[in-house]
Order: sequence, then C-alpha cells, then structure tokens
Amino acid sequence: MTEINLFETVKGHICQCAYDLRLAPDVEAILKTPMREFNFSIPVRMDTGRIRTFQAFRVQYNDARGPTKGGIRFHPDETIDTIRGLAALMAWKCALFSLPLGGAKGGIVCNPKVLSEGELERLSRGYIMGVSRIIGPHTDIPAPDVYTGPKVMAWMMDEYSRIVGRTTFGVITGKPLSVGGSEGRDDATARGGWYVVAEAAEDAGIDLRGATVAVQGFGNVGTHAAVLGQYLAGVRVVAVSDSKGGVLNRNGLEVRRLEEHKERTGSVRDFPGAENITNEELLALDVDILIPAALENTITAENAPQVRAKIVAEFANGPVTTDAEAVLKEKGIVIVPDILCNAGGAVVSYYEMVQNLSMDHWNAAEVDRRLKTMMTSTYHAVHETAQKKNFTLRQAAYTIAVRNVVEAMVARGWV
Ligand code: GLU
Repeated sequence: MTEINLFETVKGHICQCAYDLRLAPDVEAILKTPMREFNFSIPVRMDTGRIRTFQAFRVQYNDARGPTKGGIRFHPDETIDTIRGLAALMAWKCALFSLPLGGAKGGIVCNPKVLSEGELERLSRGYIMGVSRIIGPHTDIPAPDVYTGPKVMAWMMDEYSRIVGRTTFGVITGKPLSVGGSEGRDDATARGGWYVVAEAAEDAGIDLRGATVAVQGFGNVGTHAAVLGQYLAGVRVVAVSDSKGGVLNRNGLEVRRLEEHKERTGSVRDFPGAENITNEELLALDVDILIPAALENTITAENAPQVRAKIVAEFANGPVTTDAEAVLKEKGIVIVPDILCNAGGAVVSYYEMVQNLSMDHWNAAEVDRRLKTMMTSTYHAVHETAQKKNFTLRQAAYTIAVRNVVEAMVARGWV
C-alpha cells in the first residue's frame, strides 16, 4: 500500500477550493505553505538513568486571523508532514467558526504507552523548554490531541509559567479545572460533533433516535462520542473499536460498562455479550452513521467500497483520504467534514482562552449553550452554501473558511 500523506490531502482540498473561489495562484501558494516550522529534539532522562532523545515539531501554519492554535500529539508514527496537514486543518477550522485565531499543530515522536509517569512529565516539560520562545497566550496556544490530555497540559502550563516567571494559564488550553481549565472542554469535541451530526441527519432524513452507530477509536473523542451519542442523541451504538480491535452487539453496547472494561483490560475486545470484530469489519458495518474518531487516513480507496453507512462523520482529523472520498461520494454517502464536525474542541478551547484572559469562569450550562449555538449555526451556513453551489459539505466548509483567511490576508496587506 502506498503511504498517504495528510499534507498532500489537505493541499488537494486547497486546490479544489482555490478553483471554487477563483483564487489567484499567488494566494493559493501562500495557503499551501506553512508560515513557520520548528523542528527540535528533546533529551529526556529515562527511569533507567540513560538519556533518550525524542524528535519533536511545532508548525505554525497561518496566523492571518490571529494567534495560532492547535494541539500537541504524542505518537510513534508522527511525521512533520502529518503535523503540517493538521496545522493547516486548524487554520481552516478556526476560520470556519470565525474564531480570532490561526492554526498550528505540534507533535513528539514517542510511544506514550511505554513511558512511565515521570518520563512522560519530563518529556512534556522538555517540549515546552524547546518551544517556550515561540508560544505564548498572544502568539501560539497549544492544546491536547492524540494521547495527550489535561494532565500533560497542566505540566506544560506549569513549565511555561516557570520559564516566564508568572503563572500564565492562557498559554495552553485543555487544562484541568483547578488550573484554569474550562467546564465542558473534556467532551467538547464529541459533543460539538453530535450537535452537527444531529442537523446533518435531519437534512439526510435520518431519525437519530434509535439510529445505529459505529465508532472507530476509543480515546478521548471516541469514548465521549459513544457515550454522548447514547445520552444526548438517543442513538444505538452497536460497535466500537480501539487500536487492538473492536466489538459488536446489534442490540446496542452498554458504553459506560465498556469504558470500565477497557479501563480494566486495556482494550474493548472480549467485552461480555459482544462479538469481537476487526477494525476493517467495523468500517464495513451496515449502520446509519459511521464515526471515525481515531487517526488520519482510516478510510482509504481499499476499504471505502465496503462502507455502507449513510453518514460518515469525521470526529477525527483527516480520516477519509481523497481517493476514498470519491468512492463514498459516488455511493451517495454524506461526509460531515472534520473542520466542521470536530471543531467543538477548538471552540471550547477558545472559550477557555477567553475565560483565562479575562480571569473569568463560566458554568457548564453557559459553555454548552454557546457551543451548541456555534456548532448548529455554522453547520447551517455550510449546508446552505453546499445547497446553493451544489458542493459537498467539505467544499462548502473550505470555501467559507478559506475566504475568511484570505480576507484577513488582504486586510493586512499580505496579498
Ligand atoms: N486538537 C484538537 C483539534 O484538532 C483541539 C485543538 C485545540 O483545542 O486548540 O481540533
């Protein structure tokens, strides 16, 4: 199988969008190029006493609309091109939702599953030592992503605060509530995703109550997607999977118990009352909604012909490759694109920044009310554009997002 490069996929979306918006080639070239990239290494003292060096990246893709924003991933297969693609997606995501922010992303090539708590903390602090001069509450604000969460964000905020000599909550989002975190940030990506999917399902004539759902990925986003799907949207989650494999119960899985099972055994597999399936089998299930909630390049030209869902909701970033998208489109499957569907995390991160910068704390109902309005109204703007221009939802989302970025570049005199 040929390697699929996420940055190439995202540049492909920009090509399409440049065509749709009749953008000048010079403008298109800027949009296809990261503004700043930082490539560095982090020496970490391991528990054995030896020093191991980890490779790390931070890409600040485009800051025309404001300080750059985006998560930090810990993953053994991390590459600079994946980070470039993800940083670009953050720029479009923030612009689509009219947040006063640009896009960035960071990553460390590591396997956090084999690191001790102490090693993880030293690695997290080492990352901030490396980037302390290029991040800040008014320049670039990191956040959680794959295999990072509130604990890592707290260490990173603390490290930055030590370096600059003052507690600076606003430098990072996704923190625990005790150190400037926002209510509702932990499940914001999945919650926002369901607010969008609820509208998309209605437009597709699908009644969410009792609709069948398969969730690929059982990390932060996938777990909350499964739980909230049941409790918020009333769907029947029939299958979920993690990196080790999946489980299926056509009558619906008890997701809370499945969470405990994964906690205890390290995987969703062998869940009592369910049948073990592979990740590939999960993608091919006859369900109403398929939710890829793990990594990029999950649905490819090879497995797309087997997909039978009516809606593919991209809770992950970049889960559908360009070739796969063409296959799904041909089959009449609606793709709810990542920059629309999974923006809830970025939106509540923005709310966290606003609370930090104004020394405020909003209650959970307030955060949820704002998130729901934001997700729903942005979905409608995208859907309306798609209807009017006969575009896919992705094309429509890109035209709105990229137009917003270009407008800022023009206003600033860059083009
Ligand atoms: N990592 C998340 C994303 O890809 C959230 C980014 C953020 O909160 O800044 O959207």
